[in-house]
Amino acid sequence: MYIAKLGSGPERMWIQGRIHGDEPYGNDACLEIIKSLLGSGRRILEEMTFWIIPSYNPDGSEHFWRRNANRIDLNRNWWRTGGTGYSEPESIAFYWAWVEFRPHYAIDIHHQGTYFVEDEDGNDTNQMTAFSIGISVRQEFLEPWIWDVSRGMAVVGYDAVSKLGFCNPSRYPLVNIHSAVVSSMMLGNPGPDGHDAGWKTAAMFFENRGGIGNKSRGYIIKQNVVAVHAIIDAIAYGELTFVEEERWDEIPDRGGRIRDSDKWPNEWAELDPRTHPDYDAGTVHDEMTAVDDAGNESDPAGPGTVTAITPTIPRTFALYQNVPSTSRCSGRPWNGRHSRRGS
Ligand SMILES: [Zn+2]
Repeated sequence: MYIAKLGSGPERMWIQGRIHGDEPYGNDACLEIIKSLLGSGRRILEEMTFWIIPSYNPDGSEHFWRRNANRIDLNRNWWRTGGTGYSEPESIAFYWAWVEFRPHYAIDIHHQGTYFVEDEDGNDTNQMTAFSIGISVRQEFLEPWIWDVSRGMAVVGYDAVSKLGFCNPSRYPLVNIHSAVVSSMMLGNPGPDGHDAGWKTAAMFFENRGGIGNKSRGYIIKQNVVAVHAIIDAIAYGELTFVEEERWDEIPDRGGRIRDSDKWPNEWAELDPRTHPDYDAGTVHDEMTAVDDAGNESDPAGPGTVTAITPTIPRTFALYQNVPSTSRCSGRPWNGRHSRRGS
């Protein structure tokens, strides 16, 4: 396990990727962020210090499954109840790294399924949301300043990726997962053997559209880099405190899943593993990104509670965004408006 340590400034930021081994682009995004930080000039590295973990879960990454080699979800393991918390070497190692570093800010990069942008009536607008931003602990459990700084980071990230035009960023559903790594950082939960770090970290997470093959790799990595750099700039140049964190409420809710929309043709239903005769809803399926029936990637509270998995998205779906009509998809000729005759 590796931590890239950059910079020497007083503002400290922790960035982690691929805690779930089947969510690969957090890894790529962290490496891109390291590269761009090293090329971004001295000012940021004098204002801030970064500890960046491109691959929190190397064994799970090798297997390309969610959990680690012991089949434990590392993002439910910073917790001491039930005797299962901090059971894993990754959790213990990174907990003590967090205690040593004491970051003010943390960002955690994940994948989710593919969701569409809804209109006011909840209908599919033929646009997909490629990026969701979330906070993994509900407000009532957090100190107000943690809630405010975390929302401020989220708003900055949202504004930055909104300008990209293609990602239709949205707000991840409200979740409350106290055993997740950045949740535990926000709460200042006891560590292994009850250790009290005496420290709390403002944090939020990104969820990238996933399960779609390499064709979308470039822009998915890019949206993370853009969002992280916007947050870094806001911190380094002292602008984060001026962000209206209340605008968190204005970030649009994440829409429905593409497979539940009219863009999921019946003839492809067999690709949805939930419809397979051997599918057992009570079985843990961790070979693919785990999501529950509500589409929340982060919902499983522990082993055995995952109730659905992301299907393999047909290749055609890579063209989903901005495809105006099915006739374009089927390869029919243009209507002549853009023919050579006119130019
Ligand atoms: Zn994840």
